[in-house]
Amino acid sequence: MAFHTQSCGDCSLCCTLLGVSSIGKPPNQHCPHCPTGKGGCQIYDRQPKQCGGFECGYLTAPIAVQFRPDNIHFIITGEDRKLRCQFIDVDPKFPHATETPNGRYLIGMMRAGGYRDIVVTTGGAHRVISDSPARAAILIHELEKRQQAAQPTSG
Ligand code: SF4
Ligand code: SF4
Repeated sequence: MAFHTQSCGDCSLCCTLLGVSSIGKPPNQHCPHCPTGKGGCQIYDRQPKQCGGFECGYLTAPIAVQFRPDNIHFIITGEDRKLRCQFIDVDPKFPHATETPNGRYLIGMMRAGGYRDIVVTTGGAHRVISDSPARAAILIHELEKRQQAAQPTSG
């Protein structure tokens, strides 16, 4: 399988799936600063910290281009080494993306790489790919705690 130097190319899936609070961009809504939806940020030189700080799993690992987020319809958005899980965000337009042959292959590779569980978020709903229902429940609880902690507080 041929690997390449990782770059976004025509992908801009994170600019749709992920929320960017500082510019009021909700999750799962395409960002107006990438009007083509085919890569390129019009405000790259002054882009929000959230965008500049995002570590896409595709860009940080030697993953072949057929597994680029726009081709596979999900993004590896993070990991928790202590909990040995990785997080993915699925494009709600392709809710079964993790069940396609390429989706299954990539998730198999992630799990073979030492991540026991994969936390899948699709349109705000969470599920866990795991061999253990008990661990899956713990991870969902942990995720909800983190999300509550990340909520802005009033006053
Ligand atoms: S999802 Fe990853 S590969 Fe696609 S545009 Fe965002 S950072 Fe680049
Ligand atoms: S500001 Fe730029 S990098 Fe951030 S979501 Fe919008 S198009 Fe993407």
